[in-house]
Amino acid sequence: MPRKARGTMFIISAPSGAGKTTLCDTIIREMPGLRESVSFTTRRPRTGEVADRDYTFISEQEFRSMIDRGDFVEWAVVHGNFYGTSRSRLEGIRNDGLDVMLDIDVQGARQIRESYSGGVYIFVLPPSMEALRDRLERRGSNTRDDMERRLARAAEEIRHYEMFDYVIVNDVIEDAVKNLGSVIKAERLRRVNIDREWLKKNFLG
Ligand code: 5GP
Repeated sequence: MPRKARGTMFIISAPSGAGKTTLCDTIIREMPGLRESVSFTTRRPRTGEVADRDYTFISEQEFRSMIDRGDFVEWAVVHGNFYGTSRSRLEGIRNDGLDVMLDIDVQGARQIRESYSGGVYIFVLPPSMEALRDRLERRGSNTRDDMERRLARAAEEIRHYEMFDYVIVNDVIEDAVKNLGSVIKAERLRRVNIDREWLKKNFLG
């Protein structure tokens, strides 16, 4: 069934440690017609991260020039670093008729909500606050202070859950991937996402 020419935006947010990155990476691999918009950031690459695949890594000065030029549809400071979604990357993917996934924080999701209509907002939760603490501890890369900051921030982000359309609890990752896939498939079948011309030509003469 042909779908309308412009792709849908799926905006996915989660507190740090909810397992969103694994979830997003898996769904991008498994779901045809879905692409991730690669964000710009001023944070340093982590071991194993690839430039222009995970992020485009730039300096704060370059980031500020991009803000001034209006290159971002949204940007935010997260854990002391700048992150932003490029307008041309986002629109490029949508204009190719592909759906686009934005893995961004709650502040960014709110900005997109204010300036775009029609996005689908998905919030990923850990099974509990204790599970979140466990996951952050196991990651090991956080100092105690950093961990307390992340937990406080998580509580603050969860308070904003009402701005999201869907909530996925990431307990067993395979189940969370299936649930996310179901949301994407259901959204694709929405009447507004079906190509009207195709329907008219084939069924209404
Ligand atoms: P990390 O540094 O762990 O990859 O990401 C930290 C946080 O920044 C995550 O919550 C991630 O979703 C968010 N983030 C990544 N890219 C963007 C972006 O382009 N805009 C915003 N607002 N947040 C982003």
